[in-house]
Amino acid sequence: MDFSSYELILYDIDGTLVDTAGAGMAALIETAESVFHAPGPSLDLAGSTDLGILQNILDHHGRSFHSAERDEFFLRYHGHLQSNLYSGKYPARILPGVADCLERCRTEGVATGLLTGNTREGALIKVTHFGLEHYFPFGAYGDDFADRNLLGPVALARAGVFHQRAFAASRTLVVGDTPKDINCARAMGAHCLAVATGQFSADALRSHGADFVRESLLF
Ligand SMILES: [Mg+2]
Repeated sequence: MDFSSYELILYDIDGTLVDTAGAGMAALIETAESVFHAPGPSLDLAGSTDLGILQNILDHHGRSFHSAERDEFFLRYHGHLQSNLYSGKYPARILPGVADCLERCRTEGVATGLLTGNTREGALIKVTHFGLEHYFPFGAYGDDFADRNLLGPVALARAGVFHQRAFAASRTLVVGDTPKDINCARAMGAHCLAVATGQFSADALRSHGADFVRESLLF
């Protein structure tokens, strides 16, 4: 895998950089139950945006939120997420090869950012927990849009603002672990490296049309 042919690499978080071992799922369930006082729907988190997940929860309860209620929901979620990660109850871990891969990008001068379904604050909590925050000075997040396919151009624009130069989608690599990451890369006109460190096998990711597929980010 030759990263130097790319000028920008955008990383997904869950299943790609880290495995929170259920800490994130539990935080969402705890938040939803504390807000609605009833069990919620079963959640399909893989590749979903937090706004999209919240919409599923609201649909399940036949509710809608105005923006202050949405902000309050995510504020509670971020509190649960932070305390779950720090509780030690979940064997959260950084995934194989991630630290070396990010360091290689840095030394080769390839810009790195996030392209994730997590809210901005949720993303920051997760990458900071693993000491990775300095690799990700910008990103596009799951509270920018519910539709992940709209996040690519946001990430490109923020890369441009941060680095004070234009980035081309054609020289951007999206790294993710689900078919939704592959769709998102395709929607923005970037290449996709799919890693089988989440819920999807290398074969499943290959058949979904990823440009590159690897078992992990170990090189
Ligand atoms: Mg993921």
